[in-house]
Amino acid sequence: MNEYVEGNYQAVVIGAGHAGCEAALALARTGINTAMLTLNLDSIAFMACNPSIGGTAKGQIVREIDALGGEMGVNADKALLQIRVLNRGKGAAVQSLRGQEDKNRYHALMKQTLENTPNLKILQAEVTDILTENDKVIGVKTAFGGVIYCEAVVVATGVYLNGSVIAGEWKRSSGPNGFQPANELTASLIKLGFNVKRFKTGTPARVSAKSIDFSVLEKQDGETDVFPFSFLSDGVPQKQRPCYLTYTNEKTHEIIRANLHRSPLYAGVIHGIGPRYCPSIEDKVVRFADKERHQLFLEPEGDNTEEIYVQGMSTSLPQDVQKQMYRTIKGLEHCEIMRYAYAIEYDCIDSLDLYPSLEFKKVSGIFTAGQINGTSGYEEAAGQGLIAGLNASLKIRGEEPLILRRNDGYLGVLIDDLVTKGTNEPYRMMTSRAEYRITLREDNTDLRLTPLGRKAGLVSDYRYERYLKRKAELEKATVLIEKLYKPKEVLSLLTEHGFDKPNAALSAGDLIRRGISLKEIAEKTGGFEGISDDVLYTAELNAKYDGYIKKEDEQIDRFKKLEDKVLPPDIDYLSINGLRLEARQKLDKIRPQNLGQAGRISGVSPADITVLMVYLKK
Ligand SMILES: Cc1cc2nc3c(=O)[nH]c(=O)nc-3n(C[C@H](O)[C@H](O)[C@H](O)COP(=O)(O)OP(=O)(O)OC[C@H]3O[C@@H](n4cnc5c(N)ncnc54)[C@H](O)[C@@H]3O)c2cc1C
Repeated sequence: MNEYVEGNYQAVVIGAGHAGCEAALALARTGINTAMLTLNLDSIAFMACNPSIGGTAKGQIVREIDALGGEMGVNADKALLQIRVLNRGKGAAVQSLRGQEDKNRYHALMKQTLENTPNLKILQAEVTDILTENDKVIGVKTAFGGVIYCEAVVVATGVYLNGSVIAGEWKRSSGPNGFQPANELTASLIKLGFNVKRFKTGTPARVSAKSIDFSVLEKQDGETDVFPFSFLSDGVPQKQRPCYLTYTNEKTHEIIRANLHRSPLYAGVIHGIGPRYCPSIEDKVVRFADKERHQLFLEPEGDNTEEIYVQGMSTSLPQDVQKQMYRTIKGLEHCEIMRYAYAIEYDCIDSLDLYPSLEFKKVSGIFTAGQINGTSGYEEAAGQGLIAGLNASLKIRGEEPLILRRNDGYLGVLIDDLVTKGTNEPYRMMTSRAEYRITLREDNTDLRLTPLGRKAGLVSDYRYERYLKRKAELEKATVLIEKLYKPKEVLSLLTEHGFDKPNAALSAGDLIRRGISLKEIAEKTGGFEGISDDVLYTAELNAKYDGYIKKEDEQIDRFKKLEDKVLPPDIDYLSINGLRLEARQKLDKIRPQNLGQAGRISGVSPADITVLMVYLKK
């Protein structure tokens, strides 16, 4: 293959999936001359699996990406078919937005945004090699023989590295949805010192809407009284598409049990480790054998397609078995499958080899993001892409990286878990992974993160002005909420809610903590005019959870104390007496940045931390 110079750029992003898009935009929007390469321009921001953005804890991540100046939230609002708040019946800390997206529109809009971004070149080409000199990246090489020189590379190759798709006896070397795989880059990564693992995930069939009897199914409509994903969007569509609920049944389960011997998963053909929280239907039937039925959602894939995504029915059973089992489901008795379900195995790397900046420890200038780091999900990928892209940009600009901590956001929790604990299966974000959930709500992400995105150069003037306006409104609302009312001013309100006449002045905050909504209080007392609903919502939650927030603030202060205790990068852990052997080895491998991170490494005990503190003092 004849080698030629394809170009000279400051940065290269390998991949145009959810991680690659955010990384490329973060680089180009902070003035870095960037080239983004993908195997196929038609896979830009491709939703290989469910046509939705958000969900529990994932909604928080989308809003964090938006607050930092990322694109996913803006794009998701433009391609919305339906949006809902999940866990409405629970506390605000675990409520999350989930949007049904028009896949093709999502792809087309993101591609357009990328094409119209200055400093960004997009090229359809396979990267086969990452070039380095003296443990520093100098460029990449494509399958065409083209060499692109650069100072930083973000690797965001998703599920394509040695991608292998499987269903029953059918197995092909392939990316998702028939896209080509990338079968050469893994060898280059291993040569550079990456530890590579094999993971898998799966997707359900797509069936034709025309062949479904929706009349017998439970309809689930969207919601219009919800905020959009992005702080730059002015509302959600009033006209939304419904989803439908249906269930598997004993007949479905019988067919699955009768064909488990043909399941590559149970026949030991699939070696990759799958996501615990997105199990295939055969896995669910085996693991929850006592369950008579499993809930399924029929989700529209777009306005200009008949394709319906059967959420909850992912499988790698053979096509003939799929045909039978899908037709046992209520409403799908005559369904026409348009795309069969399959599983995909792919290579990913050990995230313990990364710094919290997502830079590779062994070669300077290589960053990795997304599914390649062992996560699963568009949102998790996009969040890492933004951080990796921003940190590649900050490195090129000679500035300190942006490291989000566990109290800054779910992105801080996600990345800290990856680089401190690692993962042995596809990592999906969940609210239970975060310690400070009431602080990390969806509604206040801009207050926590927009200043950080601004400092890193990614938050535009337009976004920053909107943030400052919200912040000022919130300060005004907070003062009003703490203002005291004489008992007679709020007596009727209290009586309506069955409370006795108070014998002291009360603030709106006190009334909110008694379960009276701020809307009612504002209508009764006035004074909140001109403050937007989303700001009133945040002010109300801050008042309602005042006690919990104060407690979390104390915990965060204690947390920060250990996080601020920096550990020198060159400590010889192996020679520190008093540290247990396992701790020495783990600390030596992971090289934590601070005492807090050291304490979260599995196998490092509180006693080991005490030894380290004494060592540091000396
Ligand atoms: C079958 C299937 C089922 C899934 N199921 C779920 C699920 O149930 N739940 C869930 O949360 N997530 C699921 N996902 C995962 C979800 O799709 C990914 O998490 C998400 O797309 C990852 O984004 P990414 O940016 O890391 O990679 P991807 O979106 O996979 O994009 C990778 C990009 O890299 C490019 N690329 C790769 N190698 C090269 C190379 N050598 N040179 C140039 N370009 C290259 C590709 O062309 C593509 O543009 C599933 C994915 C698949 C394929």
